[in-house]
Amino acid sequence: MPLTGLGGRLAIGYITDMDLKSKRVIALDEKVSARTYSPLPVVLTRGKGVYVFDAAGKRYFDMLSAYSALNQGHQHPKIVGAAKRQLSRIALTSRAFHNDQMGPFLEKLCRVTGKEMAVPMNSGAEAVETAIKTMRLWGYRVKGIPSDMAEIIVVADNFHGRTTTIVGFSSDPDARTDFGPAMPGFRVIPFDDAQALENAITENTCGFLVEPIQGEAGVRIPAPGYLTDVRRICTEKKVLFCADEIQTGFGRTGRPFCVDHDGVVPDLFVLGKALSGGLYPISAVVGDNKILGLFESGTHGSTFGGNPLASAIGAAAIDVVVKEKLAKNSAAMGELFLEKLISLDHPLIREVRGQGLLLALEFKKPIAKDFCKLLLKGGLLAKDTHDYTVRFSPPLIIKKSQLDAAFKIIAVAMNAIKERE
Ligand SMILES: *Cc1c(COP(=O)(O)O)cnc(C)c1O
Repeated sequence: MPLTGLGGRLAIGYITDMDLKSKRVIALDEKVSARTYSPLPVVLTRGKGVYVFDAAGKRYFDMLSAYSALNQGHQHPKIVGAAKRQLSRIALTSRAFHNDQMGPFLEKLCRVTGKEMAVPMNSGAEAVETAIKTMRLWGYRVKGIPSDMAEIIVVADNFHGRTTTIVGFSSDPDARTDFGPAMPGFRVIPFDDAQALENAITENTCGFLVEPIQGEAGVRIPAPGYLTDVRRICTEKKVLFCADEIQTGFGRTGRPFCVDHDGVVPDLFVLGKALSGGLYPISAVVGDNKILGLFESGTHGSTFGGNPLASAIGAAAIDVVVKEKLAKNSAAMGELFLEKLISLDHPLIREVRGQGLLLALEFKKPIAKDFCKLLLKGGLLAKDTHDYTVRFSPPLIIKKSQLDAAFKIIAVAMNAIKERE
């Protein structure tokens, strides 16, 4: 299989070492699915823990974990069990009635975040939209910003989802080009620049929305103390600090939440992905009553948000993170993984970086996708971001022996790259 020149679209004819069934699946996807992704040429049919399996039964390490939705690993028995139990009872009530699952779920969510209440939604983007509405509502009702003047500060290279409002303040041309007009009311400042935040705030600023580590931008980690400064500035200037921890939350970076590294508490958490352990789309905005209590009946909602099936799954997913001490394992395994990546020490590597089990290998040349194809051949799935960077984010349940085995695959791929360059 030639590893270069495949480009964004998959050229099926080039893949000779793939079974016919998988080729057919990929051909069908190419035909009936809008091409908003360019997946690696592998068809997955089963998952268990840190592994996934293709149609031919070949095993791979999953080092993407569905962008951190699978912190608890594939098919975690506790979460699957909770889902099955709830499926045999009731799945959806709508919020027109109470159900017996949502309260206990949100109570757990409040306990792990140290907050008072939550708005349950489904996708991450919906939770971000909910947070935007929350910050504006607070801006008008509490801060006294004149009607329709509220402004939210965001940072460059952000990733918060795919709705029209969210892509309108993205700085990625692929995300925003030809999807305008952009929603007004957002101001973009550089990441990891507290002074820029201070300068950008006006009397009409209601909130600051930021990822504590920029995952999609290629695992960009701010300097220690950045979030401490952000917290101080937001408090002083009466601006809500909203942390999008959809990717970094629930142990991914080696602490329960990424903001814990700086010991700060945002006004609002936006959560998703691992909130369900990968079984179901579940998201939420979490905060205190003085902010989220501003919503009144009829001002926000979601047909599926807070449904009993989602709630049972979410509660089990949080339990697993806490009881299996996933943040602690993420810190220990992350440190080991980072040491191993540093040991690769090759002139083609520009930088390796990581916090917990959110790590990145950045090349000096745009070979990230080729590298991922070598990893795939070796039995490891990882995803390139922005041509130069490969992100590694295995399930947080990974053991040392598994990490050792996975790293061997990475080292072999690195040698193969060396020979080609
Ligand atoms: C994935 C992600 C989102 C969007 O979540 P979806 O469920 O895909 O809508 C938002 N913010 C961050 C930081 C993410 O990683």
